[in-house]
Amino acid sequence: MDTKLKLVCERIDDMLGYPENIIYGFADLSDDKYLHPSYPYLGKCVVIGVSLSKSSVSDLLNGISQEYIDECYRANAELDVLAAQVQDILEDGGYRAKALLSSTSDYDPITYRTDFSHKRAATKAGLGWIGMSGLLVTKKIGSALRLNTVLTDAPLSTDNEPVRVSECGDCVACMKHCPSNSIKGVLWDRSLDRDDLIDVKSCYNECVDAASKVDFEYPLCGKCITSCPFTLKYIQR
Ligand code: SF4
Ligand code: SF4
Repeated sequence: MDTKLKLVCERIDDMLGYPENIIYGFADLSDDKYLHPSYPYLGKCVVIGVSLSKSSVSDLLNGISQEYIDECYRANAELDVLAAQVQDILEDGGYRAKALLSSTSDYDPITYRTDFSHKRAATKAGLGWIGMSGLLVTKKIGSALRLNTVLTDAPLSTDNEPVRVSECGDCVACMKHCPSNSIKGVLWDRSLDRDDLIDVKSCYNECVDAASKVDFEYPLCGKCITSCPFTLKYIQR
């Protein structure tokens, strides 16, 4: 690794490597399926996760709370600041970089897809796998996190191996707790698409219903977050 790149990596690690509420990793997106369509020349990335507070996710099985909504906004705002700082570090090093936004509210209303999947990038960065729920599942904080990504052409490399298969094992907790039966019970691997795992239309409708109960404008449910044993382990730690 050349000196310039080493310095960039050290600065990123100084910022993201120590806070307890942050996880991060570098990923190679050179596989076409993962590239951002607007930035196909940025084939590497830094994926950042910020954990949601334990109290905000602990009671989601009983419905979404204002605390959970506020916490999602707080984590998204923190992520967007961190991503902008990582972009600055990469640009200072002479590389091109683009910090994306953590919010996923810019989805296509027909397909419910965004231009870029932070979750898929996170699996490539070795942060976790896509659970039966369609959420990113990490060993440290389960699915109680928000994500953002900084795309770059810096030749970042990492010791973290990409995660290629599910580590859900024989668990089906999220499927049992999903109020709309949207979770199909399929174990993820890299060949599968989101639609192989969940019925996204049915999940969306349930999220609209759940959000309307608390007068919230964006669809939100989260029962699959709290029912996951990896999230529960984080909450109980
Ligand atoms: S968000 Fe709610 S409706 Fe959608 S898959 Fe998770 S538990 Fe089911
Ligand atoms: S609840 Fe169980 S099956 Fe669902 S994502 Fe978590 S570990 Fe996987």
